[in-house]
Amino acid sequence: MSPVTHFFTGWVLANCFDLEQRDRALTTLACVAPDVDGLGVIPELLTRNSSHPLLWFSLYHHSLHNLMFALVIAALAFALAVQKWKTGLLALLSFHVHLLEDVVGSRGPDGYRWPISYPAPFSSSLQLAWRGQWGLNAWPNILVTIVLLPVTLWLAWRRGFSPLEMVSAGADSSLVTALRRRFPARTAV
Ligand SMILES: [Zn+2]
Repeated sequence: MSPVTHFFTGWVLANCFDLEQRDRALTTLACVAPDVDGLGVIPELLTRNSSHPLLWFSLYHHSLHNLMFALVIAALAFALAVQKWKTGLLALLSFHVHLLEDVVGSRGPDGYRWPISYPAPFSSSLQLAWRGQWGLNAWPNILVTIVLLPVTLWLAWRRGFSPLEMVSAGADSSLVTALRRRFPARTAV
């Protein structure tokens, strides 16, 4: 699935738990982290028509979709978090939710399944792929993203914070204020 879908999945997952702001961000980002290996798409596209194209995306995408990198991310989250164990474990879970989302819905336009080499780089014996996998642009992915957006807005309305808190506290509170003004809470009779 796309990094945007992973991001909102991580956010909703983080909101299932009572976390500090920083720990929420770490849990959310852990769900996007595996796609760091997809950043090679930029040089690959830029050099596509050159005489020496860089195939960094084709070569390295999914090279960090494995248990080893999951543990690195979990350790990083542990180190940076306020609630260390809780956030470290949630980051590990969040990372694996990303892998699951990719196995079910990240088939490339060329039909390639991008199998996940879970024990890499130590072994290539286990490749995770699912025969029923749908394409990256298929409707279930769009549906998941469309469902995650209102859930995110509902959470913001209800709990008083949104993913905007990661970039700007002001923008975050403006959004929450706007939502609460638009949808005032029903008062008990
Ligand atoms: Zn991925």
